[in-house]
Amino acid sequence: MNTEKPTSTAAGNPLKPATKIIHAGAEPDPATGAIMTPIYQTSTYVQTAPGQHKGYEYARSQNPTRKALEDALAIIENGQYGLAFASGVAATDAVIKLLSPGDEVIAANDMYGGTYRLFTKVFEKFGIKFIYVDTTNAANVEQAVTTNTKLVWIETPTNPLMNITDIAATAAISKKAGAMLCVDNTFASPYLQNPLNLGADIVMHSATKYLGGHSDVIQGALVMNDKSLREQLYFIQKSCGAVPGPMDCFLVLRGIKTLHVRMQRHCENGAIIAHYLRSHPKVERVYWPGFEDNAGYDTAKKQMRDFGGMISFTLKDNSIAAANKVLSSTRIFALAESLGGVESLINHPASMTHASIPREERIKNGLTDGLIRLSVGIEDADDLMDDLKHAIG
Ligand SMILES: *Cc1c(COP(=O)(O)O)cnc(C)c1O
Repeated sequence: MNTEKPTSTAAGNPLKPATKIIHAGAEPDPATGAIMTPIYQTSTYVQTAPGQHKGYEYARSQNPTRKALEDALAIIENGQYGLAFASGVAATDAVIKLLSPGDEVIAANDMYGGTYRLFTKVFEKFGIKFIYVDTTNAANVEQAVTTNTKLVWIETPTNPLMNITDIAATAAISKKAGAMLCVDNTFASPYLQNPLNLGADIVMHSATKYLGGHSDVIQGALVMNDKSLREQLYFIQKSCGAVPGPMDCFLVLRGIKTLHVRMQRHCENGAIIAHYLRSHPKVERVYWPGFEDNAGYDTAKKQMRDFGGMISFTLKDNSIAAANKVLSSTRIFALAESLGGVESLINHPASMTHASIPREERIKNGLTDGLIRLSVGIEDADDLMDDLKHAIG
């Protein structure tokens, strides 16, 4: 038997997504034949003579468990190169470090609070300018372009309002402006959406979420096609040192193997819960990309394979008190930050995940005090509905 990584079936046919996801990056261990990539818990590697080694010198720069994961990340995102980081924000941090003082970034005005905090509180003082626009209308991005625009940063669907940005249209505008496009693909996961195929230059993931999938690891990832971009980002990864440990890489590698089955159930349950909430007399509005009357529906349908398991909603009584009652009454939906694990979570963005965005800014962008966010897990959908029914009352 050929022990190389499978890239096709024995008949020579290309692998379908489910097969690719399970076999991505998995090469039997060359030392023992172990089918699972071992956790290479080592800081350094013995050299046979000065400078003579097997491609591994020091574990900040190279680690075989990390390499298997990075290869897997590239394969499942349909990219050439993957890089793993100690967290999602460490991956974002590496992308911004490609820039120089005076450079401008056009960023979505509705995105993960930690990305906004990193941009405004850490990088602005180094002379990088961030311009926030509503990227759901590509014309707004085009208008914000200047000769200093070096990067466009979008998230789609967005956290927590599930707004959809047209990746292909934004990629075309970025390209014309001579800027790179980076897409935070955390909410969709590579199973539902592949931004590199739509013209993006870099895909970013918080692997903490759907890629890991079991709420047991913090990790980030970047995937790209351009070799020189990979070299620059690898240089930043090893120079700044925000690398994940081998155990964490093992956990994400393991998580990726079930990404397709988990995502299928997240999507099924997400659709059931979104429709249930929409029919509930006490619910005002449900934010979920799969409703046909959503502004972003056509774009979502075009660029995503399904609509995912993330849902936000508001009650008709849009007060903090009413939201708090729901947030503290669920039994299966656990009150916690984060998302993308097998278990369902409930979250209050205004006081939890998005508390670092000033209230005025938040409300202007539609993130009201009463907004509730759900990460719908892969439990039984009837139990999840029952839980919400009781909590909403
Ligand atoms: C969680 C998250 C991040 C940050 O990732 P960490 O792994 O927590 O550092 C970035 N973007 C989105 C959309 C996220 O949900």
